Amino acid sequence: MQQQRSQQLFERAQRFIPGGVNSPVRSFRAVEGTPPFIARGNGARVWDVDGNEYIDYLGSWGPLALGHAHPVIVDAVQRAAADGTSFGAPVEQEVQLAEMICQALPSVDMVRLVNSGTEACMSALRLARAFTGRSKIVKFAGNYHGHADGLLVQAGSGALTHGVPTSAGVPESYAAETLVAAYNELESVQILFDAWPSDIAAVIVEPVAGNMGVVPPADGFLDGLRRITESHGALLIFDEVITGFRVAYGGAQTLYGIAPDITTMGKIIGGGLPVGAYGGRADIMQMVAPLGPMYQAGTLSGNPLAVAAGVATLTEMQRPGVYDQLEATAVRLTEGIAHAFATAEMPSTINRVASMFTGFFNPGPITSLAQVEQSDAAIYGRYFHAMLERGVYIAPSQFEAGFVSIAHTASDIDRTIAAVGEALSSLER
Ligand code: PMP
Repeated sequence: MQQQRSQQLFERAQRFIPGGVNSPVRSFRAVEGTPPFIARGNGARVWDVDGNEYIDYLGSWGPLALGHAHPVIVDAVQRAAADGTSFGAPVEQEVQLAEMICQALPSVDMVRLVNSGTEACMSALRLARAFTGRSKIVKFAGNYHGHADGLLVQAGSGALTHGVPTSAGVPESYAAETLVAAYNELESVQILFDAWPSDIAAVIVEPVAGNMGVVPPADGFLDGLRRITESHGALLIFDEVITGFRVAYGGAQTLYGIAPDITTMGKIIGGGLPVGAYGGRADIMQMVAPLGPMYQAGTLSGNPLAVAAGVATLTEMQRPGVYDQLEATAVRLTEGIAHAFATAEMPSTINRVASMFTGFFNPGPITSLAQVEQSDAAIYGRYFHAMLERGVYIAPSQFEAGFVSIAHTASDIDRTIAAVGEALSSLER
């Protein structure tokens, strides 16, 4: 694989950007090697600066349910740009996006748009604390909610991959306000509420864990969280940054029929541009400035380009058959991968919810972070490179989700499955 230009760029990047990347998950430190610098994308494919072509399963880590450079999205962004890129004053399209979000998510009466999932989760916690007058929060080990201080405690995603689940620089006094429970283990949540019955403002959870690899919620887990939080006067926050408009148009809360008090969003609602959002019950959202005392703001929030991409994306996602197609594509892919692993006699577990999935090098079943961590990350690293060489781009970490888009065709999937078979047989064991 030709990598000369990527290598040159990576050397330059490392001089000016820590680790050469603007987000650690893009780094190949866990799997070693030089990340290809991407020149362009179209549909299910990306091309790097050396001209290598890949079938892409990163999908920009979730936003690109329509694939790269979807003509409707490109057109929406171009039109918006021609009319001015930012005003710092209200625009019509942000109302449209807010309305679409509230119509889609049954528990969301009002929503505030921000610029990232991080901002959404950080603000949701402040809101929960403002509403309840309490200071502690509960999160789950291996769940990731962005890089706000109190959430970088036993975090997933790059924090897990790169061995810094709890970041340096977070004051101990602040981290002490974050209580950590075990995903899919209600008992661990109950223990925290028994210890601090009236101090916990909220439980924040990825309703389908994606940032320790995909781990679906166990039967009764989300229900149990709803029950425990309600009975203690704490709020339940669903982090639907990945799952919103992904696992169903109405998110995980629709798929599983649970109404959280606050929902955080990002990724798909921005169609590949920087957007996040937090929303919920009207009585809670009325705490937000200028209506109430919880302050949160943003120079570029509701940015016309970003919301235009969001509105166009959600409009496309409403087309009949989109979610059936995503499901069918993901089923074809994960069944094919499972078959290839079985043929290679490689122990594996493929977890999937709708169009998000992870193949673990681990015989499974995988329902907890402890089981995730027993996966063979070293083999994953070699498999990752074998796939990349065969023109398939998957996450450079065992602890991440893969995504399919509506642009992935049956022949893309079949090529990918063939690549999996070849990659597995190329691995020395
Ligand atoms: N929550 C979840 C569930 C996420 O997956 C992510 C990002 N991967 C975030 C929050 C943070 O979003 P952002 O990277 O846009 O700040």
